Amino acid sequence: MVPFRFEKAHSIQAAIDAAAAGGRYIAGGTTLIDLMREEVERPEYLVDVNALPMGGIRAEGSDLLIGALARMAEVAAHPETVRLQPMIAETLIEGASPQLRNMASIGGNLLQRVRCPYFRMLDAACNKRDPGSGCSAIEGINAGHAILGTSRHCIATHPSDLAVALVALDATVRVRGPQGERTFPVEELYRLPGDTPHLEHTLGPAELIVEVRIPGGAHARRARYVKVRDRASYEFALVSAAVALDIEGGSIRAARLAVGGVGTRPWRLRACEQALIGKAVDRHIFEAAGRISVEGARPLTGNRYKVELLPRTVVRALEMAAQVV
Ligand code: SF4
Repeated sequence: MVPFRFEKAHSIQAAIDAAAAGGRYIAGGTTLIDLMREEVERPEYLVDVNALPMGGIRAEGSDLLIGALARMAEVAAHPETVRLQPMIAETLIEGASPQLRNMASIGGNLLQRVRCPYFRMLDAACNKRDPGSGCSAIEGINAGHAILGTSRHCIATHPSDLAVALVALDATVRVRGPQGERTFPVEELYRLPGDTPHLEHTLGPAELIVEVRIPGGAHARRARYVKVRDRASYEFALVSAAVALDIEGGSIRAARLAVGGVGTRPWRLRACEQALIGKAVDRHIFEAAGRISVEGARPLTGNRYKVELLPRTVVRALEMAAQVV
């Protein structure tokens, strides 16, 4: 491992100042330490944010607020999460092993790096790790890679299950940085790879995620996350779907839908949502939405199966959400 400087911050402002001076935030370290061991990441200066007052889980009306330092396990088990946003608990449990859930923070989960194997192979070309070097996955092993939002420079999928659910639920993220505080949709936290795949999120220099807010509503109780993966234990998604439905009298009043494992960022399916609104709960309607879900997909030979798996996963998630009482 390459030597680095390590400091513990005792206030949010001190952490921001340290990051502005070249420091890199670290909380649970479940992504960054791995990458440092493999020398994929070589930060010279780490700022430990674990002592900052950014934990906790609370309700504000029907909204759920989650501190960026709350651990995945803590959030999944919290009574307010289970009461207000059961899909978030489901997503977190599906999202990592028990050991990782105990360590990984919510802020870190949202900013975790991609799982493309070439990103971690120092002798492979990878535009995300080494801009301008090329993309080994396009002509290489790409069975787990994205079919939506890809570019000729990167086809890596976004890895966070939680982010998919948060995007579906219209969650917002509150951040603080040298210019003060701002709040914006979680969906806007992520960039498409385009020709700059090394830039993954929209945070400014030294900006720190402080809190996530998930708005409540009738849809929150009728929400499910379906994750298809290579094995039943801890594994990243091949395809996943987060669905929240507001149903009254057998008719869909509102639908929220986002998918993972297929996009270079959490992928909201607004055209599917529009196709569902005002319709009766019916398998044919769900199948029509499933067909829309793959519009614009650009599969390669290795991940062509996702064009079939995505609609089926969307239909299954819709069926499950519609059945929730
Ligand atoms: Fe690197 Fe992205 Fe290509 Fe993977 S898909 S090798 S992360 S550029």
